[in-house]
Amino acid sequence: GEILLDVRDLYMHFPLTRGIIFQRKVGAVQAVDGVTFQVRKGETLGLVGESGCGKSTTGRAILQLYKPTAGQVLFKGQDLTKLDAGQMRKMRRYLQMIFQDPYASLNPRMTVGSIISEPMQIHNLVPKNQRNERVQELLETVGLNPYFANRYPHEFSGGQRQRIGVARALAANPEFIVADEPVSALDVSIQAQIINLLEDLQEQFQLTYLFIAHDLSVVRHISDRVAVMYLGKIVELADRNALYEDPLHPYTKALLSAVPIPDPVVEKKRERIILTGDVPSPINPPSGCHFHTRCPYAMDVCRTIEPRFVDQGGGHFVACHLYPNSGA
Ligand code: SF4
Ligand code: MG
Repeated sequence: GEILLDVRDLYMHFPLTRGIIFQRKVGAVQAVDGVTFQVRKGETLGLVGESGCGKSTTGRAILQLYKPTAGQVLFKGQDLTKLDAGQMRKMRRYLQMIFQDPYASLNPRMTVGSIISEPMQIHNLVPKNQRNERVQELLETVGLNPYFANRYPHEFSGGQRQRIGVARALAANPEFIVADEPVSALDVSIQAQIINLLEDLQEQFQLTYLFIAHDLSVVRHISDRVAVMYLGKIVELADRNALYEDPLHPYTKALLSAVPIPDPVVEKKRERIILTGDVPSPINPPSGCHFHTRCPYAMDVCRTIEPRFVDQGGGHFVACHLYPNSGA
């Protein structure tokens, strides 16, 4: 398919400073450390990794909520990092975000109706006298009663609040949505409902998603392709089935070891890797392969040379010295 979003060598480093009057730079949190991937029109790319791996920061840097330290974010061929604030404001309606915490992301003092109509007003999309009607339509689209428009966020359950967040994102008629752990704060029984809703909306409105999660089981159903992140880098990216059935990177294998597989044949032949130790700090990440401090296969070369991110065939990318052309 056509490429909608093309992220090239994206870096997001947050400087660490000391001193109150004379600040000096003492280091940087290397939250996103050279990330490259494309998202095709109409697909869902799952982005998975443990907390602190840089996946949310990647999503925010794509939407220019953070100004990337380096790299390009091409949306329909236009580099968002080059736009000034005014140009980006106009662009923003096409790129929306659904947040993890439906409690914190909705203003408690605003009615549901004003929350959902705010993007229409900001982007001048719907004439004022037609906004109420549009709000009611959007509420129905996300499976809520249109009369909820006059109520306040605290009157709703977590799942209903996330539907309100989805309606707000849709209000701008976006093409691309970053869903940042949209179901992590919800009861397991509600998670599937929200994922199904997002899939229905994708079909109905030809949406493209970057779906962020910390757990591979959450993105399995909804993703066409999945990218796995570790300490600011994408270590593996592949079609959904290839990633779950034939993972290449030891870190992906470790994440999958924690996920039950319904197929007993696959379950039997799969390799189990149990991770020990914590994720190292992104302030001074390990040299060479960032994963070498936790990898059961680590070799000498892994401590010194960073593995290249290589297509091992059919668009199955991996950054690991166990595979050909890694640069070792
Ligand atoms: Fe493990 Fe080395 Fe591969 Fe890194 S490059 S994942 S340390 S084998
Ligand atoms: Mg899909």
